Parts: sequence; C-alpha cells; structure tokens
Amino acid sequence: MSDGLKMSNVSHEFGSNKVLNDVSFDVAPGELVCLLGPSGCGKTTALRLAAGLEKLQQGSVSINDQIVARPGEYLEPEKRGVGMVFQDYALFPHLNVAKNIGFGLQSLSDGDRKAAVERALEQVGMSDFYNAYPHELSGGQQQRIALARALAPTPRVMLLDEPFSGLDVARRAELRDSTLHILKNAGIATIMVTHDPEEAMYMADRIIVMNEGKVMQDGTPEDLYFSPKNRFVASFFGEVNRFAAIVRDGVIATPIGNVANDVLANGTDVEVLVRPEGLQVGEAVNGHDILARVDAVRSLGEISLMHLSLHAGGHVHARVPRRLSSVNQSSVAITLDPDMTFVFPMT
Ligand code: ATP
Repeated sequence: MSDGLKMSNVSHEFGSNKVLNDVSFDVAPGELVCLLGPSGCGKTTALRLAAGLEKLQQGSVSINDQIVARPGEYLEPEKRGVGMVFQDYALFPHLNVAKNIGFGLQSLSDGDRKAAVERALEQVGMSDFYNAYPHELSGGQQQRIALARALAPTPRVMLLDEPFSGLDVARRAELRDSTLHILKNAGIATIMVTHDPEEAMYMADRIIVMNEGKVMQDGTPEDLYFSPKNRFVASFFGEVNRFAAIVRDGVIATPIGNVANDVLANGTDVEVLVRPEGLQVGEAVNGHDILARVDAVRSLGEISLMHLSLHAGGHVHARVPRRLSSVNQSSVAITLDPDMTFVFPMT
C-alpha cells in the first residue's frame, strides 16, 4: 500500500452490465492522473467508487494506506478526505460564494471556517468574489468556486469529472492551466476523468486509458504516444495512419513501405499504425520511391501537417519540420520510420 489513492482489482456491474472489469491503479500525493477513454467505458463509475458515492462490489479502495471500501466495508464519502468537482458545478444558487465554499465546513468554528474559505478563494484567485452569488459569475468562475469548495477542507485526494467540458475553448484553456498549478502547489493526489486525449496530454503526469471497463494502458503521455501496447491505445491517443496488411516471410507490405517483422507467424492479419511523424518526406530520386502528391500543408507552429495523396491510392498525414513545408513539388517520396510504426495482430 502507499500514500495517495489506490484501487485494486475493482469490478462492478449494473444489473447484467459489467462496467468495470478488474481495474487497478494508484495515484501518489502531488500526482495528477487522467482516466481517459470513450463515453461509457466506466470512468465515472471508477471515480464514484473511489469517492464512496457507489457501493463497492469487488476489489478494494484505499486512501493513504487506509482501506475505505471493500465488499462489506464502507467509509462514508465525507470521512474519506476526498474533494470532488463535477462538470455541472452544482453550486447552491441561493447561497453566496462564501456560504457555498463553507457548506462542507460546518464542524469548524466561525473563525476557522472564514479563514478556510478565504484561503480557498485565494488559491483559485477569486478573493474578490466572497459575497457574490453564483448567477453573477461566468461559467469559468463558477467552476473555480466549485474547485475552491472542494479544496477548502484540505482533501488528500481530488476527484475531477470532466470539470472543464461545459466551458468555451478560451476559458477551458485558462482554467485547465490554473487548476493544474493549484493542484500541484497543494500536493494533492488527483484523478481527473476526461474523454479528450488532448486534455489528458495537457494535464496528466500519467494517463490510464480505459475501454469497455478495462485498463488498456497505464503510463506517461510519452509511453502512450511512443509505445502503445495495443491498437486501441495507438489509435485513441494521438493520430495514426492505419493500414490492414498480412505478414509474408517476415515482411509486412503497406502502401507506404515495408515493415520487417520476425515475431508474427506467416499469414497473420495485422494492422500497421504509423504516427504522422513516422512518415518522412523527401525529394523523389529514383524509380523505387513511394510517391505521393502534396494536397495541402497546414502550419502547426514548429511543425507542419502535410495532407498527402499516395500515387498508388489513399490519403495519409505526415508531420514534418516547418522548413520542409515549403516543399513545392507535385510528387514527393515518403519513407517509414520504424520507431513510429506499430504493428498489432487484427484479433
Ligand atoms: P461518460 O464519459 O459518457 O460519462 P463513462 O466512461 O464515465 O462515460 P460511466 O458513466 O462510468 O462511463 O458508465 C459506464 C456504463 O455504466 C454505461 O453503460 C452506463 O450506462 C452504465 N451506468 C452508469 N451508471 C449507472 C447506474 N447508476 N445504473 C445503471 N447503469 C449505469
């Protein structure tokens, strides 16, 4: 066991619907971990089980070395030292900001409660809004107050469920940033649920990719991007060009080049996934080149995204250094970088 939060071998069913299947992960103090996966894969259920909003059926949850849930044992949510922020803010509309934040601090003296509220407001940069009412605040400000309310009791673990999804792009970026700094400064173990790989990449020290109730991979954003363990992770986290192919005598032929493979049996149906950085673009020099037409080049800052049409048919994306984006030929040659190419059996 360890400090922070740990879920071990948790499975969960709603009726005959098995929504979590032997899920295990942990979050250390000061670490921000994202649960990432498509809608319905069980992320929110995992979070609700950690919070104690759902009774655990199988496995265990511990917080700072103390078991808070296992079948037949259950510590109430308010005794777990867990702060929560959900998508819909859920502030009480008839209470002002101070009373909203102080709501969960009834056990403190008036003076201590006021000090805790002021500290939480300062943490989220909203000290001037002590007396404001929720309807006087923007969506981003309301979400900040929701975060202050969750921080006020100084939780050991913070659980965030899609906390930014109701906000417009600019506010979302701003609030992501400030939330990251607040949680890192407070040293809280945080789990954030999101279905957005970009958001996870921006926020997370570590990402747990889930699909159909199972953990597909648990690693740093870099692990997931450069060393995905399966087709799901390779294609859900980061862009890929995908090709169906067959292993023939240790070689897999794709429309953009051959990949050596001496692991999979002859005749195995595979999918080859190539990151856009794995397509190198150069000048066509000889008759063996694999050729493509440049249809468009879009700047992404230091790198550019090239939209290519293969002469042999099909479209691919390449990410190339900015200096290459001036390539002004109708035909370019492409080669594959094996380090950015992943091969998985179809089954
Ligand atoms: P989303 O991103 O859409 O919120 P999610 O990954 O968070 O999805 P969950 O909300 O955990 O997924 O839901 C997982 C599955 O469990 C879904 O099929 C959902 O319909 C089902 N489910 C969730 N809560 C309940 C409940 N209280 N009763 C019955 N089924 C439920």
